[in-house]
Amino acid sequence: MKTTKKTALLVSAMALGMLFSCNKDENTASTAPSNLVTLQPTELNKECSYVDSYWSSTAFLNTTIINTTQTNFIYGQNTKIASVFGRPSVPLSIVHDNSNPNSTYNAISYSSPKKIYFGEAIYKAALAKGQIVPAMILAHEFGHQLQYTYGLPSVHENTARPNELEADGFAGYYMRKPTGYNATWAAAGPAFEFAYAIGDYSTTSAGHHGTPPQRRSATRLGWYLGEYNLTATSFDSNFFYYYNNVLSGAYKTARPSTVTPEMDAFITSKMDELRKINSGEIDGTEFGQLND
Ligand SMILES: [Zn+2]
Repeated sequence: MKTTKKTALLVSAMALGMLFSCNKDENTASTAPSNLVTLQPTELNKECSYVDSYWSSTAFLNTTIINTTQTNFIYGQNTKIASVFGRPSVPLSIVHDNSNPNSTYNAISYSSPKKIYFGEAIYKAALAKGQIVPAMILAHEFGHQLQYTYGLPSVHENTARPNELEADGFAGYYMRKPTGYNATWAAAGPAFEFAYAIGDYSTTSAGHHGTPPQRRSATRLGWYLGEYNLTATSFDSNFFYYYNNVLSGAYKTARPSTVTPEMDAFITSKMDELRKINSGEIDGTEFGQLND
């Protein structure tokens, strides 16, 4: 009896596979299912396990992570992050690999079609450091989506450094926003520090991503810019005005029109701290202990 049932299931799964032609994009959904969460692949997943060349051959996609609490959390964050920047959410899928779980230690933001793939392994490692950490990783990845949409960053170098530092800045902005994560620095600071320890997640961006002190100062600047309501494009002009023109002195650009005198006074009052973070004078431990 059991054998017969298994065979029937397999036939049914094969029929499904043919019906849906194993297109990887069909597994991408913007909302999480409300039914019971399971980490076991469905028969359809098994049939259509190949994700793409950035993931192992045994990896597969679905829309569940760990349990319903975590699944609802990260899909809720996906919607919230987009809404803070006035954007529709980008399809989010979770990458699992039961044969080689460590192979999913990555998160990738894709430009065409726009989507984010979040690996189960990096999610679990991040969550072990606090609920805020996977949200911060997702906010960084969504920062890349904003770059794809608006043709950012406005500053170009021979490496991915401006792209990555700005994505860190977008994540800092989201963490501070009352309509976003609304975090305290006591929660956000150590979360960012964890991210630098495990490196960058976008394997689609080759090259240098900024040194840890540069990434810390980028995040902290984004955090301070979260005091104001900025579009992605005005965030970009303000971010690089302060980061490059004021902080390091490497660029000489005019003050953006979106910088109000009040905002300029606020960010300027933080410039000494930002420079000390950027130079490493404020180290990783002290960075996590800064005030709001
Ligand atoms: Zn990145």
